[in-house]
Amino acid sequence: MFKPENRGVFLPDRGKRVGKEHPGHGPGRTFAFPPGLADVPGEKNCPLHDGVHKMLMKSTQMVFQDPVQALNPFLTLGQSLEEPLAARGVRAGQRQALLAPLIRDTGLSADLLERFPAQASGGQNQRVCIARALSTRPELLILDEPLTALDSLVKIRITRLLCQIKEKYPMTCFIITHDMELVRGMATQVGVIYLGQILETASKSSLLSKPCHPYTRALLSASFTPGIWKGKRVVLKGDIPSVQTPPSGCIFHTRCPDSAAVCENQVPLPVRLTVGHTVCCHMYTHRGNP
Ligand code: SF4
Repeated sequence: MFKPENRGVFLPDRGKRVGKEHPGHGPGRTFAFPPGLADVPGEKNCPLHDGVHKMLMKSTQMVFQDPVQALNPFLTLGQSLEEPLAARGVRAGQRQALLAPLIRDTGLSADLLERFPAQASGGQNQRVCIARALSTRPELLILDEPLTALDSLVKIRITRLLCQIKEKYPMTCFIITHDMELVRGMATQVGVIYLGQILETASKSSLLSKPCHPYTRALLSASFTPGIWKGKRVVLKGDIPSVQTPPSGCIFHTRCPDSAAVCENQVPLPVRLTVGHTVCCHMYTHRGNP
């Protein structure tokens, strides 16, 4: 279960977007549930009891990393698009009416919807996945590395599309990404994750203007996005440790350029620097504010 002192479970208010930065490897991944789900009374270690599960199923949709894998290869893109509505019992005529604005907003065309996933490009498939996720008008949209499987030109187009969609559709977006352009374009709140633990949370503007955790600074310095980082590149030593056997004390101490003796055996607690900006680092507690 989550340890509240160093793991984060939070969602913003409706209409806000959260970007989660992580190293982009399996061990760095984490997942967030709406507040309270981690401790449903009488449901020890099994927070998703039936009622909550049904509520989540109705109000949540997801866009996956690899659009081709996410689509049924034996259905045309149009059939895949209609699937979530059909599963909810929406009649064919109504489905077309509900999907028409989404098809337009995501830049899909009628002839494309006749094709199978293997006959479309990665960007076209991802557009279908985005439109399909929006078709049930979710309250929470989870985007799991939505750009990773795409080439750079398509990434720019899909980033633009997601930024337009976020303005038009009222919902909370939970974005798992290492793409700073996507964070800059879409997020309002950002959580930085390392080995599944949140090390820093802040509003996007606070995080980008004053990154405090050494890992956040290293991440930003590695970004190719212009204007994200103006200082020298921060190169981390060593490899990412196993999430099964994480380092003692601060989980980042084996790679941290600012590590000290206290970091090896004491877990840093979250420190609130300003309203909404929290960091887990001994530099802001034992060693005084740097
Ligand atoms: S607690 Fe120590 S090791 Fe961890 S990030 Fe801060 S300075 Fe680095």
